[in-house]
Amino acid sequence: MDINHSTGENVITSTKGYMWFLSLNIIFCAWLFLRDTHHNGLESLPLVLQILCGCIMSLSLINLIVTVNIKKNINEGFYHKILPAIVLVLGLLWAVLFFNFTLYYQSPLITLMMTIMVLLPATITFFISGRLLFLFSTPLVLSLLYVEIFLKHNFSLPQFIGAIIMLLVIYSARYILLEWYQRVQRSEYEKNILIKKLVQQAHYDALTGLFNRLSLTRFFEECVSSLSGNKKKLFMIVMDIDFFKQYNDVYGHVAGDKCLIKVSQCIEKSLRKESDSAFRFGGEEFVVLTVCDDISQVKAISHRIQQNIAHAHILHKGSDVSSVLTISQGIAQWQEGMALEALVEQADQQLYKAKKNGRNRVCF
Ligand code: GH3
Ligand code: MG
Ligand code: MG
Repeated sequence: MDINHSTGENVITSTKGYMWFLSLNIIFCAWLFLRDTHHNGLESLPLVLQILCGCIMSLSLINLIVTVNIKKNINEGFYHKILPAIVLVLGLLWAVLFFNFTLYYQSPLITLMMTIMVLLPATITFFISGRLLFLFSTPLVLSLLYVEIFLKHNFSLPQFIGAIIMLLVIYSARYILLEWYQRVQRSEYEKNILIKKLVQQAHYDALTGLFNRLSLTRFFEECVSSLSGNKKKLFMIVMDIDFFKQYNDVYGHVAGDKCLIKVSQCIEKSLRKESDSAFRFGGEEFVVLTVCDDISQVKAISHRIQQNIAHAHILHKGSDVSSVLTISQGIAQWQEGMALEALVEQADQQLYKAKKNGRNRVCF
């Protein structure tokens, strides 16, 4: 059984292909009836051939009706399990039919041609699953050889070579189709990965993994619309690392980047999952949007951020306010009708106050 990498499901054949194959089985049996009636006047097929044609047509028809009704689930569950048995029974019925056909009409060449006519659609339908193709084709090939070698007791080399060529055609066709299918699957898989990457880049900051500035607009609108009809309030916290220029100067830019990652982890750790979101707003500036009952909850978040950064104990020799890295925060509350820019502006003013008042603090 093959696995489709783009969807992750087990695929043994396409629903449409299988329905086409069953229809061809019915049409081919109907043609056998008509062909014989036309050929021998009104004389009908021998009874055994009639019964076999009837069996193939009924089995295919029932299968077709079931497949139409469970169209979506052909690759799943019960049907997935019984499909090999159905395919084997169909193969056996065709083998017995062709066996009797050869005995009755004494025309192995016609049997060979008819076998090819049945095997080709089977190859197109079951090329994904070597097992299904094997189950269907083996009885047909064995019946051909059995008639030739054991029943008629005259081994015919051209007939044997014909059968081998037929097998080669069938299996090489299968591999060509399979290669094409796998190529399509691979490109579908790569396309999905690329889409995931692009979505990731569009919404998230590449360095810290937090949401990026572009996502802030979307989140802001979602938060505002979630407020209608309840007493919750929307707040914004804007944060800026203290003396980060000096941090870069002392420890280098690479260490500066690592520090930004650590700070973003501290921020994320301090948030409540359902109602807070963190964004990297600019170089070393971060924003938190939070929906709270009152300001005390926002202050608690701010406090947790400050504590977590203190506990991270990121040494900062260049800082004028502490021996470890600190941040300053400004909080603003959203008022009805306020645009995102205005909210950012207000929070920024509070941040500026925090910086002016000695840094490593929160202003509201
Ligand atoms: P203040 O306490 O007033 O905020 O002082 P500051 O030195 O932090 O000043 P400011 O906030 O203006 O500093 C911004 C610095 O952040 C400038 C730049 O060197 C650094 N920076 C911005 N983005 C990045 C980044 O992606 N990686 C690194 N390593 N540094 C960055
Ligand atoms: Mg800054
Ligand atoms: Mg700064």
